[in-house]
Amino acid sequence: MGTGGVGKSALTLRIISGTFTPNYTPTIEDYYRHETNVPSIGPCIVEPDSGQRGTEQFSSMRQLYISSSQAFAIVYAVDDRDSFEEAKGIYKEIVQSKPEGQARVILVGNKSDLYDAHRRVPIAEALQLCKTMANAPFLETSAKDNINVHELFTKLVHLARDN
Ligand code: GDP
Ligand code: MG
Repeated sequence: MGTGGVGKSALTLRIISGTFTPNYTPTIEDYYRHETNVPSIGPCIVEPDSGQRGTEQFSSMRQLYISSSQAFAIVYAVDDRDSFEEAKGIYKEIVQSKPEGQARVILVGNKSDLYDAHRRVPIAEALQLCKTMANAPFLETSAKDNINVHELFTKLVHLARDN
């Protein structure tokens, strides 16, 4: 989950097909299915859904996504301050839709390949936010340069399985 343009589709495409495209196509709904072998768990089927934090008209659909999902990556882009602020609201939304203690989230700062000159969200601040998210794990990723993408999906599977 995350604001439009942070790289949800790019991360999904990177893990599914190993590719990256610099062109931006706003997504309403993606459907993917990915078979993977996760260390110490074994073969898993991951169905990442990169639906956006939507407008009112999609909110019942979002409720359905949230209640039927087992783990969440809340994604912002390191060069986009607004997307980081939005991440806080998304976490609240998940907490409200899940039973107590079932909001399994990982905070993800994507586009880590961008130069420091473009960075708007310091890592220290992201780690601070994680503390307010029941000590959620944190990763910086790059769909473009394939940094931490496999780690992200592996962590999500572990989160989903860690009952
Ligand atoms: P979504 O709306 O969250 O699904 O965002 P997209 O995956 O469509 O990506 C939005 C834009 O950001 C596209 O132009 C992507 O090429 C670009 N993008 C996505 N991930 C990265 C990344 O890791 N690094 C850089 N530099 N650009 C990225
Ligand atoms: Mg998308």
